[in-house]
Amino acid sequence: MEFSYSEELLEIKKTVREFAEREIRPHVMEWDEMQIFPRDVLAQLADLGFMGVLIPPEYGGAGLGYVEYATIVEELSRVDGSIGISVAAHNSLCTGHIFNAGTEDQRRRFVVPLARGEKIGAWSLTEPEAGSDAGGTQSTARLDGNHWVLNGQKTFTTHGTYGDICVAMAVTDKSAGHRGISAFILEKGMPGFFAGRKENKLGLRASDTSTVVFEDCKLPKENLLGEPGQGFVDALKVLDGGRISIAALGIGMAQGAYEAALHYSKQRKQFGKPISEFQAIQFKLADMATEIDAARLLTYRAAWMKDRGMKTTAESSMAKLYAGEVAVRAANECVQIHGGYGYIKDYPAEKYYRDVKLCTIGEGTSEIQRLVIAREILKS
Ligand SMILES: Cc1cc2nc3c(=O)[nH]c(=O)nc-3n(C[C@H](O)[C@H](O)[C@H](O)COP(=O)(O)OP(=O)(O)OC[C@H]3O[C@@H](n4cnc5c(N)ncnc54)[C@H](O)[C@@H]3O)c2cc1C
Repeated sequence: MEFSYSEELLEIKKTVREFAEREIRPHVMEWDEMQIFPRDVLAQLADLGFMGVLIPPEYGGAGLGYVEYATIVEELSRVDGSIGISVAAHNSLCTGHIFNAGTEDQRRRFVVPLARGEKIGAWSLTEPEAGSDAGGTQSTARLDGNHWVLNGQKTFTTHGTYGDICVAMAVTDKSAGHRGISAFILEKGMPGFFAGRKENKLGLRASDTSTVVFEDCKLPKENLLGEPGQGFVDALKVLDGGRISIAALGIGMAQGAYEAALHYSKQRKQFGKPISEFQAIQFKLADMATEIDAARLLTYRAAWMKDRGMKTTAESSMAKLYAGEVAVRAANECVQIHGGYGYIKDYPAEKYYRDVKLCTIGEGTSEIQRLVIAREILKS
C-alpha cells in the first residue's frame, strides 16, 4: 500500500491549486450571480492539458490516469465546483465515451479536438421521463439510407448550450430493451440539433446545464458510436469512471468549505475568545476533517483501481455516495460555524452549501448508488 503523493502528483496538485487561486477564485461570486459560463478558463485549462487528462498524447491528451484526474477535479472544485463539473463532464463523460467506444476515425475526428480543448464536450443520457431509470430512454434513432434520424429531448445536459460535440443515447430497437439503446456523436450546427432551455440552478451556477433537442436530426451513418444496441451498456461503463470524478468534485468542495470554516473559527471571537476554542466547534471541525479524509481514501482507491484496469462499479459508487454525502454535511457545518455570516454572500459558506447538493444527485442519486452497491455485493 502506498499513501503518499508522488513528486509528479504533488507538482500537478500545486499547478492546479495555483491556477485556481489566481484565475478562478477572484471571479467565483460574479460568475455565480450572473450565471456566466467561463469559456476562457476552459481554454486556459486546455493549455495545461486538463481538457484531455485521460487521453494518450497521440490523440492530443495529457496521457495521465484517474489518480491525477481526480486530483485535478478536486483542486478545481475546492475553489469552484462549477469548473470542476465542467472538466468532469468534458473529460470522463463525452471524451472518455468516444475514446473508449469509438473507431480510429472517430478518435481522430472528435477526441483530438476535445482533448486539446478546442471543442467542448457534452454527454446526454438523462431525459425528462428517464432520469434514474435511464434505460427508459425515449429518444429514438432510425436508419434512413446512409443517415440516422434522431428525434427526442434530453434534459440536464452539462454543456448542452456551450458544447461543440455531444454524445447522446437513443433507442434504435425498442423490442431489445436496454440492449436496444445506441450512442451517437452530434456536432453543433447539425440541422435539427439544438440547445433548449439553459437551467437557472440552485448551485454550480457558472456551469451550463441545458435541455438538448433533436428534431428530425440527420446524422451520417458513421456517427453511430460503438456497436448498435451497446450505447446504454457503454454508458454504464462510462459512469464507473465518471462517478470517481463526481466524488472528487464533492471532496474538493468539502475541503474548500472545511478550510473556510477553520479559518473563520480562528478569526471570529465570541465570549472573549475565538470560537475555535469552544469544544462544540472543535468537534464539528474534527468530524469534517475525518469524513473528508475517509471520502478521499475511497475516491483515490477507486481511481487507483481504475488505473490498473480493474472493475470499479462498486468502488466508484461507494466513493461517489460517501463523498457526496460528506460534502453536503461539511457545507452544512461550514454555514453553521459562520453563524449569520454563513447565510450571506460576503462569505463563501453559502455558495458551498448550494453547490454541494449536486453531488448527491448528478451521475446517479445517492439512492441509485446504494442500489448499485447492493447489486454488486449481493453478486459476490
Ligand atoms: C447540475 C446537473 C448536471 C447534470 N448533468 C448531466 C449530464 O451532463 N448528462 C446527463 O445525462 N445527465 C445529467 N444530469 C442529470 C442527473 O444525472 C439526473 O438528474 C439524475 O440521474 C436523477 O434523475 P432525475 O433528476 O430524473 O431524478 P428521478 O430519477 O426522478 O429521481 C427522483 C427521486 O427518486 C429517487 N428514485 C428514483 N428511482 C429510485 C429507485 N429505484 N429506488 C429508490 N429511489 C429512487 C431518486 O433517488 C430521487 O431521490 C445532471 C443533473 C444536474 C442537476
